[in-house]
Amino acid sequence: MKTLYEVMDGSSKDEEKLKKAGEILKAGGLVAFPTETVYGLGGDALNPESSRKIYAAKGRPSDNPLIVHICRLSDLEKIAWDPDGKGLKVARAFWPGPLTMILKKKDTVPLETTGGLPTVAVRFPSHPVARGLIDAAGGFIAAPSANTSGKPSPTSAQYVAEDMDGRIDMILDGGDVGIGLESTIVDLTEDEPMILRPGYVTQEMLTEVLGSVSVDRTILDAASTQRPKAPGMKYRHYAPKGDLAIVEGEPEKVVERINVLCRKAEQEGKKTGVIATDETASLYHADSVKSVGSRQDEEAIAHSLYRILREFDDEGMEVMYSEAFSLRGMGQAIMNRLLKAAGHHVIEV
Ligand code: AMP
Ligand code: MG
Repeated sequence: MKTLYEVMDGSSKDEEKLKKAGEILKAGGLVAFPTETVYGLGGDALNPESSRKIYAAKGRPSDNPLIVHICRLSDLEKIAWDPDGKGLKVARAFWPGPLTMILKKKDTVPLETTGGLPTVAVRFPSHPVARGLIDAAGGFIAAPSANTSGKPSPTSAQYVAEDMDGRIDMILDGGDVGIGLESTIVDLTEDEPMILRPGYVTQEMLTEVLGSVSVDRTILDAASTQRPKAPGMKYRHYAPKGDLAIVEGEPEKVVERINVLCRKAEQEGKKTGVIATDETASLYHADSVKSVGSRQDEEAIAHSLYRILREFDDEGMEVMYSEAFSLRGMGQAIMNRLLKAAGHHVIEV
């Protein structure tokens, strides 16, 4: 299959490109598009055949449900039940934006889209290209991240093309994404709302709107034998090709230990990489040292993490070490993705 590639540059031609992409989606095809979190791989959410195609293009297990993207608040009730109004409350506070809610699904949504579950994940993104595309496609786009299963979610159209060229109908290039980590997922189907995946919208922010909000314990706890409530969270899907470990402790000790570990790996003939911060990057000795940004700037860290993991893969890094990050606010999302990438390998110093 030849993948069409269109650059969305804010010019008057964009409208035409969205129309064309919308026609592809309505006909059951697949289109990758930018959102404010990461690039999505879209298909018509109400067409079971489109959802099957999404799983095939990604190599994604079909028990891992897709998020349905909408572009009008009034469309929520067409696909989900919101018996106690929690969904509307959360939507009013965080939509359009990087927040996905889980509600009981209505019959309009095929089980192919929800991985066989009686619930549906819904998000109303803020990115103008995403909104325009959803509208052009008829209002409901199922879209997981536009990466091959096993790769970090793509933060630019170039990464989408690396994974999806020849496998999908079209890629809309809207430049680099803003946030760089996937949306927060909150489950509203039980009495107490629960965060199934941390993201830009934090536990603190949700608690302000909903009162009490818990966090799925499997998110940060490797020892937990519990099954994650979001089926996708059980897969180690951000795994780099080399070995990654997180080193946690006093900053000076972390630097010292990482340098010792890198020297040892280099003596074994291995290529070494370090995920550092602006404050520490100059202190490391490794084949490649990359800063995720200033430790004070969680948004910058979130923004560069997946890019750096992909770059290390491209450079053939065999052994990698990363500093650990605080668990406050968005740090929870950053550490969750990093722990998954490292297979929960943490070295305390
Ligand atoms: P992705 O779109 O690639 O970020 O993946 C979507 C995430 O949402 C996966 O972790 C899914 O397991 C999760 N998800 C989607 N639908 C549901 C649902 N109905 N219940 C729980 N988790 C869901
Ligand atoms: Mg994904």
